[in-house]
Amino acid sequence: MNLVLMGLPGAGKGTQAEKIVEKYSIPHISTGDMFRAAMKEGTELGLKAKSFMDQGALVPDEVTIGIVRERLSKDDCQKGFLLDGFPRTVAQAEALENMLTELDKKIDYCLNIDVDHNILMERLTGRRICKECGATYHLVFNPPAKDGTCDRCGGELYQRADDNEETVHNRLEVNIQQSEPLLHFYETKGYLKNINGQQDINDVFKDIDSLLRELT
Ligand SMILES: [Zn+2]
Repeated sequence: MNLVLMGLPGAGKGTQAEKIVEKYSIPHISTGDMFRAAMKEGTELGLKAKSFMDQGALVPDEVTIGIVRERLSKDDCQKGFLLDGFPRTVAQAEALENMLTELDKKIDYCLNIDVDHNILMERLTGRRICKECGATYHLVFNPPAKDGTCDRCGGELYQRADDNEETVHNRLEVNIQQSEPLLHFYETKGYLKNINGQQDINDVFKDIDSLLRELT
């Protein structure tokens, strides 16, 4: 069960990743964790990645791909893996294809948790924080009893600058532009499975699960 997981910010990728990993006992391989582990182990590639990151520079593809290769060669990936945050570009996806062929593996599915842009905006801009006690609310998922007022202390609620419409919209646009060519790549390969992410969390997982059960 070799999976690539995709989804825009707010689509619920992290939650679904947890559920997949728990049910199918495959490792969740996120780029950040993978880099941190390679640096901690002090592998040659890990140290190389560190030297770029210490300078605030982007880690070059050849280093990233090398680290992915080391990670996917480990024993715990025998039964499968869930890649999250890699690949980010078509060039990386192509490198991954070549690497998996060498390892005698292949991607089974690219799972894309699909949520409408407007709904993502609503999810990502709805957070409100109490000025007094720091309690967090969400206009949709966890609204305060009285608009703009903290249930706990009566303090005024505000929206963080990171959560404002323009910032969130720009973040989504950047992500969409990055992911579109990748989704197209996996569609062409026949691996892409679009999952309706506009349902209850458990129903999203049911859809994923029914696909994954076919692989076991
Ligand atoms: Zn408060």
